[in-house]
Amino acid sequence: MGASCTTALLTEVVLPQEDERIVHGTVDFTGAYFLRAAALAAERACGLGFIHSHPRGRGWQRLNTIDHEAEASFAAQTQVITGRPLVGLTFAGTDTGFGARIWQQQAPRRYAPTEAESVRVAGGCLGHLQ
Ligand SMILES: [Zn+2]
Repeated sequence: MGASCTTALLTEVVLPQEDERIVHGTVDFTGAYFLRAAALAAERACGLGFIHSHPRGRGWQRLNTIDHEAEASFAAQTQVITGRPLVGLTFAGTDTGFGARIWQQQAPRRYAPTEAESVRVAGGCLGHLQ
């Protein structure tokens, strides 16, 4: 009883521009990139998803400490700018698996990730997670 589900549909990709990337071992990005993507999302009444890859990963990618910190730092801003929770996704390069989570507000200034149950790819696009 009372089962509910949340679905996030990814419809458009906003890639970083050359000056929005910081490359140092792992590729990073600038706050300007985040803000540009968040503003675009808000303009279209959409939320924001973040995707990055683990080139040597396999299967469902759980959130590691580094990723947790990075996504947590954007969860509140995403909620404020777009009015929707941040969706974080990780792509595993080895077998093209995904991991995904939705960052929900637990308390003022406290956001925690809820792991998605599944990520589905529809029509050759990135797809649909639930
Ligand atoms: Zn990562």
